[in-house]
Amino acid sequence: MSDTKIWAHSGDSHLLEPDDLWHQIMPKQQADRMPRTERISDSEERVTVDGTSFTRPLPKIYTRKGTTGETIAEVSSRPPGARDLVQRMKDLDEEGIWAEVVYQSIGLWCSLIQDPQLIRDAARAENEWLVSEVQGLAPDRLVPAALMPMLDVADAVAELQHAADIGLHLISLPTGNPPGTKDYNDDSWEPLWAAADEAGMVIGFHIGTDGIDQARAFGGPGGAVLNYVNTTYGGQFVAQKLVLSGVFDRHPDLKVLISEGGATWVPFIGDRMNEGYRQHYMFVRPQLQRLPKEYLYENVYASFQHDETAPAAMTAMGYRNVMWGSDYPHAEGTYGHTQKTLHELFDDVSPEVRHRITRGAFEELFPHVSAPPA
Ligand code: MN
Repeated sequence: MSDTKIWAHSGDSHLLEPDDLWHQIMPKQQADRMPRTERISDSEERVTVDGTSFTRPLPKIYTRKGTTGETIAEVSSRPPGARDLVQRMKDLDEEGIWAEVVYQSIGLWCSLIQDPQLIRDAARAENEWLVSEVQGLAPDRLVPAALMPMLDVADAVAELQHAADIGLHLISLPTGNPPGTKDYNDDSWEPLWAAADEAGMVIGFHIGTDGIDQARAFGGPGGAVLNYVNTTYGGQFVAQKLVLSGVFDRHPDLKVLISEGGATWVPFIGDRMNEGYRQHYMFVRPQLQRLPKEYLYENVYASFQHDETAPAAMTAMGYRNVMWGSDYPHAEGTYGHTQKTLHELFDDVSPEVRHRITRGAFEELFPHVSAPPA
């Protein structure tokens, strides 16, 4: 293994918001209703959103494992920069991570809010905070994802335009449909895709955002990993819905990023869709201008962190929009062993493939980011 530092952009990172974020940026009456978490034991936390609570398991200790399962380090807390943006940049420099797509953490629970006014106001406040307090710290490296009010399509369109106006480059949508709205393949969403296309806004879907039930659908032996794998599929379905409903026929320049869900599913799902499209042609509507797999390969980007087969999606299966991601600072991520992971993934592929997966695909979505140190 070479010891040269590999610099990579990350298509999947997160921000741990300050505990009092909502109270910093919203009136108290509204802030009190926003998502919050509290640790209720060593192994559980309670999530409360607008008066409704549920508990979820917490890892007791963050065990960092290599790609062959060996323990790299055991640490009892998050990375030092998890909550401190200045320290975060030091962590990134040490790990070899340059630019990042930055999703929310607690903000991801906002998809459970059911009051349109509350989520409208929260999204507006959060996005302004993201521009001034996050993106503003390193505009050539940090690409925070806008929070979106998704209970009403017109609200989503308005906030997308606001997010674009204040300089954000990416919106974050849940893979599962928000309560009360039609599915993403329904024509009612067309104004949102059109607005994203017009604003040049990338649409990010982080896996595991299709509701709390998906994350605990299985019990019994193997349940933890079954649930982990299960959170992946929502990203695959949302990509299929956009392709098959003709969104990319109408908006050939629209770019979608499916974060944290791996990359080899793209060739697989592409093949399945093509077979269905061809063999069941008589039932298919709408008819597309090209085969489904072509849109999946062109308009959809997919990030992975450890998957050892992911580079082969490009080298062996012709899918070029494979993007690496660190998932910093989450337990599933590469913090503490990023260089080891990058070397294991990329030492045996060509420089072109390595460049495309660690940098090229990311820079295609976000051409404004700067280049890492040579
Ligand atoms: Mn992630």
